Amino acid sequence: MLCFGTLVLKFFREMGKIFHLVSLKHLLLVSIALNVSLILRVINISEKKILHSSSAHVSKNNIHLSSSSSLTSFANARIEAQDGEERVINLDHGDPTMYEKYWQQEGDKTTIVIPGWQSLSYFSDVSNICWFLEPEFAKEVVRLHKVVGNAIAENRHIVVGTGSTQLFQAALYALSPQDALEPISVVSAAPYYSSYPSITDCLKSGLYKWAGDAHSFKKEGPYIELVTSPNNPDGFVRQSVVNRSEGILVHDLAYYWPQYTSISFPADHDLMLFTVSKSTGHAGMRIGWAIVKDTEVAKKMTKYIELNTIGVSKDSQLRAAKVLKVVSNSCESSSSEGENFFEFSHNQLATRWELLRLAVQKSGQFSVPEFAPQFCTFLGRDFKPQPAFAWLKCEQEEVNDCESFLRSKKMLTRSGKHFGFSPKYVRISMLDRDQNYNLFVERLSNIISSCGDPTMYEKYWQQMDDKTTILIPGWQFLSYYSDASNICWFLEPKFAKEVFRLQRVVRNAITENRHIVVRTGSSQLFQAALYALSSHDASKPISVVFEAPYHSAYPSTTNFLKSGLYK
Ligand code: PMP
Repeated sequence: MLCFGTLVLKFFREMGKIFHLVSLKHLLLVSIALNVSLILRVINISEKKILHSSSAHVSKNNIHLSSSSSLTSFANARIEAQDGEERVINLDHGDPTMYEKYWQQEGDKTTIVIPGWQSLSYFSDVSNICWFLEPEFAKEVVRLHKVVGNAIAENRHIVVGTGSTQLFQAALYALSPQDALEPISVVSAAPYYSSYPSITDCLKSGLYKWAGDAHSFKKEGPYIELVTSPNNPDGFVRQSVVNRSEGILVHDLAYYWPQYTSISFPADHDLMLFTVSKSTGHAGMRIGWAIVKDTEVAKKMTKYIELNTIGVSKDSQLRAAKVLKVVSNSCESSSSEGENFFEFSHNQLATRWELLRLAVQKSGQFSVPEFAPQFCTFLGRDFKPQPAFAWLKCEQEEVNDCESFLRSKKMLTRSGKHFGFSPKYVRISMLDRDQNYNLFVERLSNIISSCGDPTMYEKYWQQMDDKTTILIPGWQFLSYYSDASNICWFLEPKFAKEVFRLQRVVRNAITENRHIVVRTGSSQLFQAALYALSSHDASKPISVVFEAPYHSAYPSTTNFLKSGLYK
């Protein structure tokens, strides 16, 4: 009887899988059809080109860490760019589709079957303060934090939320005094996560109110400070900045995972927020969790979620439990559970950051933050942070609005102004699919200065009329020589005199008792300097370095002759 029952269950499970597959196939077909028509409509390119670009995408499945392979990826990106010049690349949102590759490669390991009779009740565990928390999900949260070593979750309250966005609001509700005369101030150090101000103020709550940059927060009394570490948008590890006794801290640790930053200790703050969106890439599942020390705070957060959505989808919690379980399994070296999730995604991001830094260097028009390496207790080695976002600065003097500048090149990013910061900065998602990301770095690397052509000065010289016009008769300047008594024998004495005079007037350089060498533009003088400063009998070329961001012509001017003197 038991055997028959098992067989029946197995039969229904198999049927369920078939239906699941059929509906997945349908979805896939519809999505391919939609995508192709969209691409055709938006880009208006030929069918042949689409096939070409998709094969370039497939060929890039194996990305490794070495710089030569980065260059290969760069070259592949180049192929794609030929097809995608007109395409708008949207890296405004932190949509974590980069992770699809890992989960596709893991096949059915995280597939779950949910029969129609399951998850009917509102309740998951009435003995828990968070009565809608699925025990299986809670168990996997505790296990994963233990495996990774990034937070203490044992003997703490866990509150599940519809993304950490809901938990952030639950935390504000739980931490605000209910009977205060005015709303409590909510602050975070700029540049802060751009959604904090709008989420805080969206209901114009009488309990809490956005009060801006924590660096400039001077108001007396209690306040809530949001500490995002590593930070969105700039990726730096952070601590609270206001540091007053009346402060209540919320630690948003969405990015405290080893693909982004070194794990240096298990975090054990009063209230910590995590999310699957940034840890495993399942943003669409809408699951986050809070680890809370104080029982009353956990109760109030639970109350908020009860009032807001009467709990959190059980389907999503079960799916999240399965995903976290597979991630933990993959981290256990003895297990045959497939490739370590964090190693894989860490390497993906390392390659992307390498490509980005190459593009920034090639362009010479931008800069990204520099990070110091730190030891990671999880990966067992030192590495530099490789954040989920690039905090890019437009270095060109004439570009004040970096977002508009990049939009004019069909790259959508989020302006620094949304993060309480300068519009010379933008936030760029590093978590998009390969095809988009590669096209982006290629396009960025091709933004090269228009040689700083100084045509702006025409106006002045036009208005000066004939003051600088000179007449050069045909008999003049036949000789090679200008002043045979000078080291620089081709230096015109008149020119030297005016150089001395002008620099004395402007006082921007000492010229007295100095040699003046004239050449064809300072580009030639740069090469002459390299020649003059290099040792001519050294066994290998002397290294030439510049502080980045540097003039984009320096590397090519230095190396174009493959000189044995300098490199
Ligand atoms: N906190 C930070 C710092 C984030 O960057 C994000 C996502 N961009 C969130 C919270 C929201 O995460 P969730 O998808 O879980 O709502």
